[in-house]
Amino acid sequence: MDGRVVVVGAGLSGLSAAVHLAAAGRDVVVVEARDEPGGCCGSAQAGPYRFDTGPSVLTMPQVLAETFGAAGEDLGNVLPLRRLDPFYRLSFHDGSRLDVVAGEQEMAGNVRELCGPAEAARYVRFRRRLGAMFEAEWSSFIDADVTRLRSMARPVALLRLAAAGGFRRLDRFVASSLTDERLIKAHTFQALYVGLPPGRALAIYAVVAHMDTVGGVYFPVTGGMHAVPRALATVAEKAGAVFRYGVRAERVETDASGVAAVRLDGGERVAAGEVVVACDLARAHRGLLPEAAGDWRLRRPRYSPSCLVVHVGLDRPLPGQAHHTLHFGKEWAGGFSALAGGRPQPDPSLMVTHPGAEPATLSVLEPVPNLVSGADWERLGPRLERRLLGRLAGLGYGDLAGAPRLTFDPRDWARLGHSAGTPFALDHRFRQTAWFRPAGRSRRVPGLHFAGMYTAPGVGVPTALISGRLAAARILEGRR
Ligand SMILES: Cc1cc2nc3c(=O)[nH]c(=O)nc-3n(C[C@H](O)[C@H](O)[C@H](O)COP(=O)(O)OP(=O)(O)OC[C@H]3O[C@@H](n4cnc5c(N)ncnc54)[C@H](O)[C@@H]3O)c2cc1C
Repeated sequence: MDGRVVVVGAGLSGLSAAVHLAAAGRDVVVVEARDEPGGCCGSAQAGPYRFDTGPSVLTMPQVLAETFGAAGEDLGNVLPLRRLDPFYRLSFHDGSRLDVVAGEQEMAGNVRELCGPAEAARYVRFRRRLGAMFEAEWSSFIDADVTRLRSMARPVALLRLAAAGGFRRLDRFVASSLTDERLIKAHTFQALYVGLPPGRALAIYAVVAHMDTVGGVYFPVTGGMHAVPRALATVAEKAGAVFRYGVRAERVETDASGVAAVRLDGGERVAAGEVVVACDLARAHRGLLPEAAGDWRLRRPRYSPSCLVVHVGLDRPLPGQAHHTLHFGKEWAGGFSALAGGRPQPDPSLMVTHPGAEPATLSVLEPVPNLVSGADWERLGPRLERRLLGRLAGLGYGDLAGAPRLTFDPRDWARLGHSAGTPFALDHRFRQTAWFRPAGRSRRVPGLHFAGMYTAPGVGVPTALISGRLAAARILEGRR
C-alpha cells in the first residue's frame, strides 16, 4: 500500500487535513479544481475592488490557531487577526439597533438601553445558559469525532446536553429566557446558518449565538477572509504538502485492499494509500467515488437554502458603518416559512459587510431558496437583485445601481460545483446532525475518508477546519 494521502479539495476542510497530515510527516498531495485554495472562502476582483466571496468574518479563532499549531506555527505570526468592535450591529425594522460587543457587563448595558433593566437581567441569565450549553456541547459533540461507535456511548454528555435544553426547539429555548422580540431575533437568526427556521432547528444550535456574541468575531489584519486559506496552504506547503491547482479529481480508484489511486481529469493516476474527499459529497457520489462508498445518509439529502450575494465597489468608505450589520426585515416567521417553502422571503433580512480595506466595498447577502425549489432563476435573479439594491437605498446606502458590482445567485453557486445551487450543503435538521450526517470514513472502502461541511460537525469555518483535523486523526491512527 502506498503511504501517500491524496486530499481532494483545497477548501478549509481539505487544507486543515493537509496541514495536520503533512505536519505529522505524511506524504500529502492536494488536488484542487480551481486555481487557488479556499473553496467557499474565495476571492473575486472587479477592477480595483477585491471581495471575499464567502464568509465575511471569523469565529472561534482558537480552532485556526490549533490548526497552525499542529505544524508548529503561531497564528499571531502567520495570520494576525483583529477582533471586531462591535462584533456586529443588529438593525431592527423599527429603527432601533443593538451593537453586539465584548464583555457581559458592556453587552448587558446595551441590552438595558434597548429593552430596559428587567430584560437586561434576563439577558445575563440567558447568556450563562448559552455558556452552559456550549460547555456541554463543544468537546463532546462539535470538536469530537461523533461518528465513532464509542462516542455514541456518551450518556453523561448527552444527559448534560438534554439538561441544558439542547433538544428543545431553538425558538422555544430562547423565548423561555427572553421576552423582547428584538433580543429573541438577535439569538435565533443564527438558525439561518444551519439552514432551518428557528422553530425547526434544535436548541443545540444556540451555540452558534454563543460563538459569535460571546466568543467574539475576528478578521485578518490584511488580505480579508481569503487570507485564511492562503495562510493554511502556505503552512501545509512548508510542512511538505504538494498542491496541484487547476486539476480535477475524476475518480477514486480501488483494488482488492481498498483505495489505490486518484485519477485526474488529464488522465494522470496519482497512487494513494488513503484519500480524503473534502468537497461536495452529493456530487462526489455521482462519479468521483466508487459505488461501494455509497452512504445511506445521502439517499434523501435535504439542502440548506442558498444565498444571493451582491458585492459592490464604493467610491468612498461609509463613515460610522460597522464591519458587519444585520438589517432585519419586518417579516420574521413569514420570511422563514417562505424560504422553507422554496420561495423568496417577502421582506428579507440582509447581512451587510463593509470591511476596512481600500478601496471600500460593500457585500450584501440575502438568504434565498436553493435550486431544488424549481424557481425560474433567469427571471428571479435579476428581480431579486434589483429589489436588494432598492432596499439598500431605502436603508440609506445610496443609489448603488450604477456602482461596479459582482453578483452570485444559486445559478452561480451551481456553476461553482455546489449541489442544489447552495454553498451551505445539507441543512442541520435532526436527521442530518452528528451521527446522521454523512460519515467521515467509508466502512466498505478501506482508506477512503471524508471531510468538509457535508460531514460532522457541519457547515462553517471552524467546523470545516475541525472536520479536516478529524479526518487526519483517523488516518494517523492507522484506521485504514
Ligand atoms: C457566501 C458565504 C458566506 C458564508 N458565511 C459564513 C460565515 O459567516 N461563517 C462561517 O462559519 N461560515 C460561513 N460560510 C460557510 C463556510 O465558508 C463553509 O462551510 C466552508 O468554507 C466549507 O469548506 P469545505 O472545505 O467544506 O468546502 P468548500 O469550501 O466547498 O471546498 C471544496 C473544494 O473542493 C474543490 N473540489 C470540488 N470537487 C473537486 C474535484 N473533483 N477535484 C478537485 N477539487 C475539487 C472545490 O473547488 C473547492 O475548492 C459561508 C459560505 C459562503 C459561500
